[in-house]
Amino acid sequence: PPFPLRMEGEVISGFGRGSKELGIPTANIPVTGVPWIEDAESGVYFGYASLHLPVSHPDLSSSSSPNNWRTFPMVMSIGYNPFYKNTVRSAEVHVLHSFAKDFYGSWMRVSVSGFIRRELDYVDVESLIKDIRLDCEVAQRSLERGAWGPGKEEKWLEGEG
Ligand code: ADP
Ligand code: MG
Repeated sequence: PPFPLRMEGEVISGFGRGSKELGIPTANIPVTGVPWIEDAESGVYFGYASLHLPVSHPDLSSSSSPNNWRTFPMVMSIGYNPFYKNTVRSAEVHVLHSFAKDFYGSWMRVSVSGFIRRELDYVDVESLIKDIRLDCEVAQRSLERGAWGPGKEEKWLEGEG
């Protein structure tokens, strides 16, 4: 299906494999009921993620956030994560923002703007991390270009509809 692709859900616990310790926390949301997910190519995507944060959340106060929603650029992995030998498809979002506090249980909306690369397997965790860091750079730099702004997605990302 054509971009942008949307999905939303509550941020749940993931595989607990310590992505956060590796410096790349990934927020997991359920993939059940997302119509395009089965047809999507396994790989790394980029776009925007918005979070409906509790009023007390430290990352909310620092910005003008309509209705407690805040939008960030993101990098997302869709697939089976061959390095970790998963058998169920997952969708994990690394938000390109340094959070002062976790946001488990918050509602997240994701608008996928484009595809970065297919899913790869890795010989070791270091090469996996190296590639993810490069993905983050590609995403950040792509989204900085005018044409990749949230555009028509902006209102939805701010909680409307
Ligand atoms: P899990 O296995 O439960 O997904 P992770 O180590 O992947 O654990 O950490 C993910 C959690 O970290 C998210 O659910 C969120 O609450 C928090 N978090 C903090 N910063 C980020 C970020 N920049 N991107 C995604 N999640 C983040
Ligand atoms: Mg995770």
